[in-house]
Amino acid sequence: MKNRIVTRSRREKIYLARWIFPMCRPPIKHGYLRAAGRQIVQVGSVKDDGVDFAAAVDLGDVALLPRLVNSHTHLEFSDCDQPIGHPGISLADWIGQVIRQRGKATEQQRRENVEKGRAESSACGVALVGDIATTPSVYPIQHLTRVVSFAEVLGLSAERSAERMAAAEAHHASLQGNEHVQFGISPHAPYSTPPDLIRRCVQLANRSGATLSMHVAESGAERMLLENGRGAFAESLRAGGLWRDGIFPWPGGHPLLDLIDTLAAAPRVLLVHGNDLRTEEIDRIARHRRISVVYCPRTHHFFGYPDHPVQSLLEAGIRVVLGTDSRASNPDLNLWKEVQFLLNHRTDLDPYAILKMATVAGADALLGAGSEIGTITAGSTRIDDLVSLETDGKTLDQVWHDFAKRELLCTGVVGRS
Ligand SMILES: [Zn+2]
Repeated sequence: MKNRIVTRSRREKIYLARWIFPMCRPPIKHGYLRAAGRQIVQVGSVKDDGVDFAAAVDLGDVALLPRLVNSHTHLEFSDCDQPIGHPGISLADWIGQVIRQRGKATEQQRRENVEKGRAESSACGVALVGDIATTPSVYPIQHLTRVVSFAEVLGLSAERSAERMAAAEAHHASLQGNEHVQFGISPHAPYSTPPDLIRRCVQLANRSGATLSMHVAESGAERMLLENGRGAFAESLRAGGLWRDGIFPWPGGHPLLDLIDTLAAAPRVLLVHGNDLRTEEIDRIARHRRISVVYCPRTHHFFGYPDHPVQSLLEAGIRVVLGTDSRASNPDLNLWKEVQFLLNHRTDLDPYAILKMATVAGADALLGAGSEIGTITAGSTRIDDLVSLETDGKTLDQVWHDFAKRELLCTGVVGRS
């Protein structure tokens, strides 16, 4: 005997949709939501539960999804109209151009760009952003899009290291009690941040309970520098006057394995890019459940790297999440376009796994399990938190086909009447 789902007060409404993707449970074909005011209080299947159709609002041929999670960007570059450099540029050359073009931005300009990026993220259906911040960094107080703000720490000289570390501590203090912006820490990358400074970042992450994010294995040039002290990064560090003797190559003979083990001591770790990860490094990451890998598909494509090892990471049981990276290497901050890029170009991947990377997995990586961001959860999600796509798909394969080519609709998903 079915429990017939009915409204229980005049404030309540039942909404029907061809598909609902709660992300914390399997997709529901012909699903319903019961909402009290704006609060979703029940999610289910029309077929399983039965619904009082007379009291229901049928949204028609749509799929309802939670808002998305962009696990890696740099909002301070959100004023870029187009990526810096050209497709296929080497990472070392691109960084040189970014420093030349962007290094002189004032705090006020950075603040305006952060607001711009946050507004763009919100408009394209993103609920939560992992933002790498040049501190000091300030965010608009009330905003639909939550942020984990990773204070970036780098410096091959003792002075620069100490100054950036102190700025990160100040950033931590400034975000105490902030419900919308959570503190995170980001040792920038192995070519800019020596091992002892990375360890201090891990210590701060532990003291503050923060998530740590670091660019790792982004290019083959990074491996060359860490293992041999040579290559494109060594040359550009020398040319820029940043080289310090005694840092490269890293000691020990297995720099990336050692780095993975060091980072794994933090409460939660986002290992960003991982384009150049090898099998033994993937196996090592898989041992550490706290580490997630952030894949930025269109940025990866911009630099022209070989195929990303995302499938191997997933097969090893590693949590993979999606990021846009910044507008300095990507034309926009629209995370749905990263999903579509993978649906169209990585047909070896399970489409539902791609959707998880863009939603619940990103929230788990940034905030830990149980945040309920990136899911449609009764008692927690509001109907304003939903996004939708038009689809009349009768099967999931037909739905994925529509997802690969259709815009995500981010406003007015469920009417306000
Ligand atoms: Zn980045």
